[in-house]
Amino acid sequence: CSQFVFAQKKPAPGPAYKNAKLTINQRIADLLHRMTLEEKAGQLNQLNGGVFTGPAVNDANQQAKVQMVRESKVGSFLNVTGVKETRNIQKVAVEETRLGIPILFAFDVIHGYKTIFPIPLAEACSWDLPQIEKNASVAAREAAAAGLHWTFAPMCDISNDPRWGRVMEGAGEDTWYGEKVAAARVKGLQGDLDDANHVLACVKHYAAYGLSEAGREYGNVDVSRSALWNKYLPPYKAAVDAGAATVMNSFNLVDGVPATANKYLVDDVLKKKWNFKGLVVSDWGSFGEIVTHGYAEDGKDATRKALEAGSMMDMESKLIIQYLPQLVKEGKLTMKQVDEAVSRVLYYKFKLGLFEDPYRFSDEARESASLFTTANRTEALKAARSSMVLLKNDANALPLKKQLGKIALIGHYAKSKEDMFDFWIANGKADEAVSVLEGLQSKFGASKITFAEGYNADATTNEKLISDAVSAASGADAIVVVIGLSGKLSGEERSLANLNIAEGQVQVLKALQKTGKPVIALINSGRPLVLTQVKDLTNAILQCWILGTETGNAVADVLAGDYNPSGKTVMSFPYAVGQIPVYYNHINTGRPTPEKRDGPFTSRYRDIPNAPLYPFGFGLSYTTFEYANLNCGKTVTKQTQLPVSITVKNTGAYDGEEVVQLYIRDMTASIVRPVKELKGFRKIFLKAGETKTVDFVLTPKDLSFFDGEGNVKLETGKFKVFVGGDSKNTVEASFELK
Ligand code: BGC
Repeated sequence: CSQFVFAQKKPAPGPAYKNAKLTINQRIADLLHRMTLEEKAGQLNQLNGGVFTGPAVNDANQQAKVQMVRESKVGSFLNVTGVKETRNIQKVAVEETRLGIPILFAFDVIHGYKTIFPIPLAEACSWDLPQIEKNASVAAREAAAAGLHWTFAPMCDISNDPRWGRVMEGAGEDTWYGEKVAAARVKGLQGDLDDANHVLACVKHYAAYGLSEAGREYGNVDVSRSALWNKYLPPYKAAVDAGAATVMNSFNLVDGVPATANKYLVDDVLKKKWNFKGLVVSDWGSFGEIVTHGYAEDGKDATRKALEAGSMMDMESKLIIQYLPQLVKEGKLTMKQVDEAVSRVLYYKFKLGLFEDPYRFSDEARESASLFTTANRTEALKAARSSMVLLKNDANALPLKKQLGKIALIGHYAKSKEDMFDFWIANGKADEAVSVLEGLQSKFGASKITFAEGYNADATTNEKLISDAVSAASGADAIVVVIGLSGKLSGEERSLANLNIAEGQVQVLKALQKTGKPVIALINSGRPLVLTQVKDLTNAILQCWILGTETGNAVADVLAGDYNPSGKTVMSFPYAVGQIPVYYNHINTGRPTPEKRDGPFTSRYRDIPNAPLYPFGFGLSYTTFEYANLNCGKTVTKQTQLPVSITVKNTGAYDGEEVVQLYIRDMTASIVRPVKELKGFRKIFLKAGETKTVDFVLTPKDLSFFDGEGNVKLETGKFKVFVGGDSKNTVEASFELK
């Protein structure tokens, strides 16, 4: 009896899921056991949050969301940011619900949280993987300090279509390079996930969203299985292999089935073939779009189809919360299917330590000490410098001579910070960024810079604006003109059919050209534009993309020659819009003489060349490089590797960096291979006059490809190898795989 009393007095052990000494899997099993079906549905429900404090406290919509949290109907919010906001909601989740399961806070941190880095497309032009990883880690550190657990990045969609406004979010047109960048971004964002300084990454948009028809956002995709496997899937796979915690469904169909309900993509490939153990989240409302696509009768049918395919969390369709319990009760979904999905949500909540300390990411002091720091801005500056691509530089118009008198700086975008920022700027503020005007003023001295607007915010011009620009130019020794496209036209739902430089900007260029002084064009744009006319009207073109917080400082460093440009474009620049899609790694036609203008019946346009204005991998430097002595063995086997080497000489007057690129062509194969495929690169630094030997190794994996079912094929036969400073100007050799 006394023993019994003693046992009664012992404090009752807490629930096993709260015991940090148990493994995550043990804790999940315990928690699942305690949860009702409705609570499980809640974990799979992700809602758009917004602001909950201040005047929003009285907003009925916001109150309804808080009430849903109280009723355990929300597993995750997107778009709630900042320690104050996230902490308040977290408090409701952990203190006012039966089981106290914390909320996951997600946000689109695409290229920085508060310190804004170059857009991902620009950053990829640096070919500097360690810097790319670093950029992602800075973004993650800031986001985590601001209460966030999860970002919807990296976008791994390969795209050949600059009409699509979202090419800014990716790594360009090349699959192999896309794999490397995707992995670097995932590593930077996630780190080891345990230190509360990183966030969950989300590989998106799975799959093939970059193939959206005619570059129209939310458009259709029609892709063959072999293209899917060889061209579109590898970067998602590389991100998954790098440890990405989450994957986002895309909006589009693949093979006639919405990606969100596509069993082949999610269950067969992602989960089974790639062994992905993380969480699959829908894209915004993509559960609901299964109905609008015409693949499900109603929301209930869509929910069943999405979960059956292996998708797990419903972003903002609010269908899981409505239909999941019913579907299970009717036997249309099994508890096992539900538990698997829920356990993946719970896994990351445990992994991030939120059950031990739900406010681990909610430290206001840390938040204010971590955002927009000098150290972070220094990284953003480095990234911005190496993102720019010098496309033209006749008669060494750049760098600007040190002894130069005055510089005329022309262009609305040189001053307007709003236009330097894109759609995805998280918590960045345009007015905190350095404009080109400010950057040049501080580099060269304000008295040296004469600024004129040149064109209006909408890129139109008039006589007055033009004559002001010309008179600014008349007293100057060099003219720098910022043109292109407002950053606001980059990002989601920013598809454009016209990629020509606006007529107003062209008029300004024409007027400036007449002054006879060197005209240097800086292109502000989130995608390659058609620069054919600009090329004729200017002496130099510097593609600046959208560079973020440090824009002006980075541009000034390049113009002054304090930084020698080293970027190489990761998307081809079309000669004309009608040429799109234009990309280097195309498949040969049966009429393979695309550049021969005089031959009869060749695959060509009658009015323009087939080749892009600037090819993939292209970018100039203030110095020049010469390639010689390409060396590679004559044969390789399925078990051996092929060493390839080349000597590169800096033949100009400046020290500089060069991106040495290696491509191959598999000459004959059971699935026809592209005319060139990138398989290696090295970014090297050479002092003026210096020569270096650059070594590569081609592995059996590099020489293989996939069949339509994702099986690896390594076929004997002849190959070519090409090495050079871009995808077009290369030296070549041949070898055979025996
Ligand atoms: C976009 C995603 C994004 C999501 C959340 C969607 O419309 O396609 O890329 O992560 O919204 O903001």
